[in-house]
Amino acid sequence: MLDFTLSPEQLEIQRQARDFALKEILPKAAYYDELNVLPIDILKKAFDAGLLNGGIPKKYGGRGLGLIEGVLITEELSAACLGLATSLSDNGLGIEPIILSNKEDLKKKYLTILSKEPKFICFATSEPTMGSDVAGMLCHAAKKGNDYILNGTKYWITNAGIADYMTVFATVDPKSQHEGICAFVVERDWEGVSTGEHIQKLGQRASNTAALNFKNVVVPKENVLAEPGEGFVLAMRTFSRTRPSIGAFAVGAARSAMEFAIDYAKKRQAFGMKLQNYEAIQFKIAEMYQKMETSRLLVLKSAWESDNGMDSTISASIAKFYATEAAFEVASEAMQIAGGYGYTRMFPFEKILRDVRLLMIYEGTSEIQRVIVAGHALGNYKPVMPPLEELAILRSEGTGKMFDDEMKGKTAWRCRMCGYVHYGDNPPDECPSCFFPSTAFKKVWPA
Ligand SMILES: Cc1cc2nc3c(=O)[nH]c(=O)nc-3n(C[C@H](O)[C@H](O)[C@H](O)COP(=O)(O)OP(=O)(O)OC[C@H]3O[C@@H](n4cnc5c(N)ncnc54)[C@H](O)[C@@H]3O)c2cc1C
Repeated sequence: MLDFTLSPEQLEIQRQARDFALKEILPKAAYYDELNVLPIDILKKAFDAGLLNGGIPKKYGGRGLGLIEGVLITEELSAACLGLATSLSDNGLGIEPIILSNKEDLKKKYLTILSKEPKFICFATSEPTMGSDVAGMLCHAAKKGNDYILNGTKYWITNAGIADYMTVFATVDPKSQHEGICAFVVERDWEGVSTGEHIQKLGQRASNTAALNFKNVVVPKENVLAEPGEGFVLAMRTFSRTRPSIGAFAVGAARSAMEFAIDYAKKRQAFGMKLQNYEAIQFKIAEMYQKMETSRLLVLKSAWESDNGMDSTISASIAKFYATEAAFEVASEAMQIAGGYGYTRMFPFEKILRDVRLLMIYEGTSEIQRVIVAGHALGNYKPVMPPLEELAILRSEGTGKMFDDEMKGKTAWRCRMCGYVHYGDNPPDECPSCFFPSTAFKKVWPA
């Protein structure tokens, strides 16, 4: 069964998020971007409106929303401000490893608090010396009795400046790469935890980004989220669940850019006509629409796979790199349609373009998504077509007969080097096309 309709409940969630985005975020987006500050009051209002932590299961007091509902919310928030959407969605990233873990006590403790109170949790794998290469982390966790002692720095951490809790990935031995990686839930108030200054960025300036530093932080055994050797897989499983949301960021931003461009094209005159009457502008708008729509389909497909218990790693990667690159193109074309005004701060185009650029970098760069998808395409992917050397490219000898009659009783041999097809009971001694010996021939017909 294939169904593209949203349920009444999903439409209601979308409406709630849209109302919130239009009333609480959109009018303030430029202000906080300029101020370079994350407005915590908006995060708290989003919590009150039920738009934060939607994925927490009901048994821990959450809404128990699926990823499909999550991406619907994310698209709406992102359409108003990508920077704020990043910070608003960051709790989802911090929470996901806890939801995916098998640590029931940690779930009960932290998911319950996060359902009840407007508290914040961040997610920390990246460091000053690594981001893509998660297995190359240096932040060190040393076992001491039942506890761990944490030392090191995490960098680029969204909401690090405001987080009450943090999901921290570290290694017991940097040399052991994937096998050494473990994860913990760390509390901000613990001795030895400190935060760096807010990092200045090109876009998404209303989102807080800072470093976390750990100096001899004692992590009790109850707060071990993943034992050494389990942390890397937990981080990758988390990304499979959260990358569709990055795609949804892109869809929301692309939608806004396109809508603003359409509005401008309908009103602006050039050479005595509205811009919308020029085919060059119409084609830009058609391609913007196509990219937004394609991106949304990919995002929803990966969210659907995840909600239905399938491994969504590949679809999430495809959604992420397709949608984020498409959104960058859409934002750039929207600016082009708005001409000089598009480049000014008086209109939203330049902010969207700055904000959208980041989507191709965080939570796995576009290159890393390509590495993942190429690995699948060249590895586990099961082709339907036969290998080229077994492909029977049979041609008529001009008899004018139908295929079955002409080929009846014929045997065909294909040269595995150049593809030449020879008809006969045996292969030729030598290929007449590339001169390879008869051993190069493989029987391809009858199949
Ligand atoms: C604003 C912001 C917020 C962020 N928030 C968080 C957060 O909350 N938590 C967190 O843990 N991290 C966060 N990050 C970090 C982010 O995930 C990393 O920046 C990202 O994964 C890229 O890592 P890097 O910057 O170290 O680049 P590098 O890994 O050094 O890569 C540099 C370049 O080399 C390319 N490259 C690397 N390896 C390969 C390869 N094998 N093949 C081809 N190309 C390759 C990359 O694609 C990139 O173009 C954030 C980053 C930013 C900028």
